[in-house]
Amino acid sequence: MKNRERIDRLNAEKQLPHGDWAALFSDWDEDDRAYAAELARGITTERFGNRVYFRGIIEFSNICKNDCYYCGIRKSNRSQTRYRLSEEEVLLCCREGYRLGYRTFVLQSGEDPWWTDERMTDLIAAIRASYPDCAITLSIGERSRESYQAMYDAGANRYLLRHETADEAHYGRLHPAEMSFAHRIDCLWTLREIGYQVGCGMMVGTPHQTPETLAKDMELLTAFRPAMAGIGPFLPHGCTPFRDCAAGSVPLSLLCLSLTRILLPDVLLPSTTALGTASSEGRIQGILAGCNVVMPNLSPQNVRKSYMLYDNKAGTELSAAEGLALLKNQVESVGREIVVGRGDHKAFRKDQCND
Ligand code: SAM
Repeated sequence: MKNRERIDRLNAEKQLPHGDWAALFSDWDEDDRAYAAELARGITTERFGNRVYFRGIIEFSNICKNDCYYCGIRKSNRSQTRYRLSEEEVLLCCREGYRLGYRTFVLQSGEDPWWTDERMTDLIAAIRASYPDCAITLSIGERSRESYQAMYDAGANRYLLRHETADEAHYGRLHPAEMSFAHRIDCLWTLREIGYQVGCGMMVGTPHQTPETLAKDMELLTAFRPAMAGIGPFLPHGCTPFRDCAAGSVPLSLLCLSLTRILLPDVLLPSTTALGTASSEGRIQGILAGCNVVMPNLSPQNVRKSYMLYDNKAGTELSAAEGLALLKNQVESVGREIVVGRGDHKAFRKDQCND
């Protein structure tokens, strides 16, 4: 079967047999990528019109107890200056974000044990009280069911937890032995059961990734049907074990994004910072490949350079207003429009605040 036929079949059936995914990833070319992008763009326009949602990401701690081999804020990176924002500082970021039109705040951090359930729920409740019309997204890693439940009850709505790779052996080559693939996947299902809008996703081009492991990633997306999917290229960081590894390919990342849009037409799909770092046109290309979300940085400027997941991370020099203005221009240059609104997944739109 030719790749175009595989892409058409994916569009019609919203799934592919494992062998077809693997064959597609082993032997695709620029024509296949452009074909998938065109189809994905059409689906995005049909579902969302010209609208692109923007979410403000607040990187509130770079302290992490984990030692993921790819990540610049891994605990063993002793050359990284560590910081933790206070609740007041996070609220100031939200205030500036709200003024600029943000209606989703994404709280992201390393797995920082100082942020106990009590502290997290206090923070979430404070944001919820001040901004009842905003969505609160968490991206703070693996926690217990009780913790996820308490944070949901305090007012969090969404949770981003990339699965990173859906192949257990591959997962074991990206993480130290104390980290468990099974636990990460369990967390995703627990979050779903509690009622969060859940996002999973993978890095593209991590060391030891193969067409087979990517096929498993697409199968996980097929089975889990996330509300959001975070997909971007792996980029090396000079103070990690993967410092000498090649960066993930931008075209392959774009292909994965387009295939994800075709598979899950309503998914909220960010054009990621990693894509914008790998190529100056990356964010625009992501939009043209079917993305409908951008996540500008709302963190205080003095800490941005300390949240270096990979080298040369984009957007660390700009203020919140400048970063948003730049993305707005990029999005508008391809005929799309950044809209103010929570931008919930279709399955979760149930009150007048959502659009
Ligand atoms: N600690 C939380 C977690 O584990 O989900 C959230 C923070 S973590 C730094 C956010 C994401 O950054 C990870 O899920 C991973 O996919 C991405 N990331 C980390 N290092 C990266 C790298 N070198 N290149 C690209 N993405 C990276």
